[in-house]
Amino acid sequence: MTVRRFIVPFRLTKEHLALTDDLAHRLLHVLRMKVGNRVLLCDLQGSEWLAEIVSTEKNFVRLQLLERVSTSQELEVEIKLFQSIPKGEKMDFIVQKATELGVQKIVPMFTKRTVVQLSPERAKSRRERWQKIAAAATEQCGGRIVPEVSVPIPFKQAVNEASAADVWLLFYEATDEPLNEAIKPHRNASSVAIMVGPEGGFEPSEVEMAKQKGAKVVSLGKRILRTETAAIVAVAIVLHELGLLG
Ligand code: SAM
Repeated sequence: MTVRRFIVPFRLTKEHLALTDDLAHRLLHVLRMKVGNRVLLCDLQGSEWLAEIVSTEKNFVRLQLLERVSTSQELEVEIKLFQSIPKGEKMDFIVQKATELGVQKIVPMFTKRTVVQLSPERAKSRRERWQKIAAAATEQCGGRIVPEVSVPIPFKQAVNEASAADVWLLFYEATDEPLNEAIKPHRNASSVAIMVGPEGGFEPSEVEMAKQKGAKVVSLGKRILRTETAAIVAVAIVLHELGLLG
């Protein structure tokens, strides 16, 4: 029987722990778990333990940590996705898929052609929504650390952050530069920044600015992909080119 895995919102440090929140409710009343049942607990701060239920009451579960789980699903390379915020719920999709692929940080950004306007309050609530999607996707895919979804930032600020990566790839449909050529010299990179534009694409001036600051401007082929397609394909190909999908 596969051992079910759950995310706990606190650092796993003690031998014994007690759950009294919705997780306790889920274990006891939804999954009808009993004393002796075992679960995997992950604190999303890098540690994951096999645990056994040792006692239960109405909405209270006491567990004993048995052994730390050593396999890590985290990528050895830090991948950051800088994504111009698309319209509608597409960002939810991008956050979920980028998390499944192992991206460690997602930076929503405003570029010149970003249609979406967000007040500071709205930006905060959207970030919280995306962060929850990232946590749920991490739990589903067996990841152990939830990627950070940062507050949306302007393109200029994103350029500064992306330029700190070992290799920075800006995806632009009006270039012929093949991605595999651009990434070849960087197969041992420890950090990669991936930048994808909005539905209307990057302005040439933005591409120029990024190039000046060290971005490699690369193509995903002759077809124009939707922003949400481009983001996922770009991450997947970069992981493959770095030998991280093995
Ligand atoms: N302005 C473009 C047009 O309509 O011709 C569309 C932009 S596309 C819908 C959204 C984003 O996906 C682009 O800013 C780029 O980052 C990425 N993208 C889409 N197709 C691409 C391709 N063939 N090569 C590189 N990037 C691509």
